[in-house]
Amino acid sequence: MSPDSSTQREECPVTNDDLDLADAVLDTLEIASWSCSRPAWEPEKTGSSRCIRHTETAEKPLDELVDEINDGDLHGAIASKTVLSSLELPSSPGFVGADLSGAALVKVDLSGAALVEADLSGADLWGVDLSGATLADADLSAADLRKADLPVANLRGADLSEADLRYADLSEKDLSGVTLSQADIRGTTLEGLSANQGTTVGKMCPDPASPAEYDALAQAYHDLKEALSDEGLSQRARRARGLERQARTAEAWARFKTNAVLRRVNCGP
Ligand SMILES: [Zn+2]
Repeated sequence: MSPDSSTQREECPVTNDDLDLADAVLDTLEIASWSCSRPAWEPEKTGSSRCIRHTETAEKPLDELVDEINDGDLHGAIASKTVLSSLELPSSPGFVGADLSGAALVKVDLSGAALVEADLSGADLWGVDLSGATLADADLSAADLRKADLPVANLRGADLSEADLRYADLSEKDLSGVTLSQADIRGTTLEGLSANQGTTVGKMCPDPASPAEYDALAQAYHDLKEALSDEGLSQRARRARGLERQARTAEAWARFKTNAVLRRVNCGP
């Protein structure tokens, strides 16, 4: 056996065990005996027999990584801070436990994707198609989900804190266990959502600056309060009502400051 052929036979050892998920979750996702088994990527250089998608380094050649990603079997893949916006994926790709933190996935078709416990924190998901995707327990904190398509997506337990959800459609969504603290929900459709005691309203979105922006935020918290109230979650509805008042106070203060500047401009020194 030549050294080259033995190198080529090195296989990525990543399996379902590395995804660190409960057995019941693995069973539900039908990946209880999943393994990668792809060829090792530059084992001499990395000192590891992991394939390119599972190698724990940010220094991956994009063309090789994208080639490896295109087949859609991506559980546990590591593609942090990678520009994947032009990626064409097969239907219902599997990204369970994948690290896509800070990645750009603008307008990528992720419909039907399995993204359970995926790290999408800070990811750019603007206009992405997530219809029918499973995002349960995914980390979407500070992700840009503006205009994301979310019909039939499963968001239970997802962390949406500081996420940009402007104009996203969360109507009829199950937000049980979801964290919304500091999320920007201006213009977000919230009618008919369901929630439970694990749903966290948290703190006010810090991003608005103008009176009109605070007005839109207050309206969004009003809608959230109504939706939570409809679910019988009076404590959480009161929290949303508190944020609505906070946004109204900030709106009045921003308006006062704007008017003060205008008065100075009009009256001169
Ligand atoms: Zn692998």
